[in-house]
Amino acid sequence: MQVFHARQEGVPSESRTGSATCTGTVWGDPIMPTTDNVTINNVFFAPGGRTHWHQHEQGQMLNVIAGSGWICLDGKPPQRIRTGDMVWIAPHERHWHGAEQGSYMLHTATSIGKTDWGSAVTDDQYPKA
Ligand code: MN
Repeated sequence: MQVFHARQEGVPSESRTGSATCTGTVWGDPIMPTTDNVTINNVFFAPGGRTHWHQHEQGQMLNVIAGSGWICLDGKPPQRIRTGDMVWIAPHERHWHGAEQGSYMLHTATSIGKTDWGSAVTDDQYPKA
């Protein structure tokens, strides 16, 4: 067992931008560094922000904490996700996730195994509303 203590007041932020794997303004805030093959991050997407196409070796759970956005599997239409929604993405399913055009989205992402990153989500692939 390991306890990962919450951030203390006065301790500098460890938030990081992920411009190599995201479009727009996206911040990642580590909750649990990779431990036993599991990584947990809070991810903050500004309006219009989204990940690149990618897949997770052993799947991923998204828990939407605030705002609203999109989850999109390759070959399927994007689906809207909102505060309180939970999403399970199966191993090796190519997908992207991010905010709506007009809303922030914060989700906790629990990723299992390695993440393989691909190309950016184009403006044509990203829903306008
Ligand atoms: Mn993902």
